[in-house]
Amino acid sequence: MYIYYILIFVVGLMVGSFLNVCIYRIPLKQSIVFPASHCFNCNHELNGLDLIPVFSFIFLKGKCRYCGDKISIQYPLVELANALLFLFAFIYFGFNLLTVFYAVFSSLLLVISVIDYKKGIIPNYLIIFGLILGVIYITFTVIITHSYDIAKNGLLGAFLGAIIIIIIIVISRGGMGAGDYKLMGVIGLFLGYKKIILVLFLAVVLAGIFATILLISKSKERKSAIPFGPFLAIAALSVLYYGDLIINWYLLYIF
Ligand SMILES: [Zn+2]
Repeated sequence: MYIYYILIFVVGLMVGSFLNVCIYRIPLKQSIVFPASHCFNCNHELNGLDLIPVFSFIFLKGKCRYCGDKISIQYPLVELANALLFLFAFIYFGFNLLTVFYAVFSSLLLVISVIDYKKGIIPNYLIIFGLILGVIYITFTVIITHSYDIAKNGLLGAFLGAIIIIIIIVISRGGMGAGDYKLMGVIGLFLGYKKIILVLFLAVVLAGIFATILLISKSKERKSAIPFGPFLAIAALSVLYYGDLIINWYLLYIF
């Protein structure tokens, strides 16, 4: 059985390497397929030995083989994070078709988080990908479970998630961005209407803690905007795995 988990981890690393390409090129509106990867400094095309996830970074000591320019630590971190997300999805949900959707959903959230953190935007390209993935996912759940429950729940979740954020945007006059309500729509498709409320609650709490830490350490001006996407993504993954546990705990101890 361990061999399958190692395989999933390696696939996760390789997909993570592709995610780095997406993170760099999608905000620049470049093709994610062509041309082949090259050094951003000397423009030298990178070959197989330069592109082994994580290991190339370690062997090259974080520098380009051709010009010696520094390579961002973001590359191995994204690869490792994606591999762990894949591994966790398959350990938690087992080896079945729906797990593949959860793994890809996790990768999508990872890409959105890094882009939103760096650029303060959530590209529509990724939202459309997420919506298509979500619709295919709920179609499969109808086929597999012979029930429309998850589909109804997902569509309601997408609608509710988007509407709540739109209301917040209108009331707060720009406290959140348009990308946030679209992202909530995608997350709602996967998690349904009960869990989307939990996602929002958790994301607000996480963002609040983060903002407080920033304020205390005074590393950021009070007015500068903190991207909300990464908090929604972390909250969504937490709820994907522990949502039922949190809701049960809440119903048991609070009521
Ligand atoms: Zn170079």
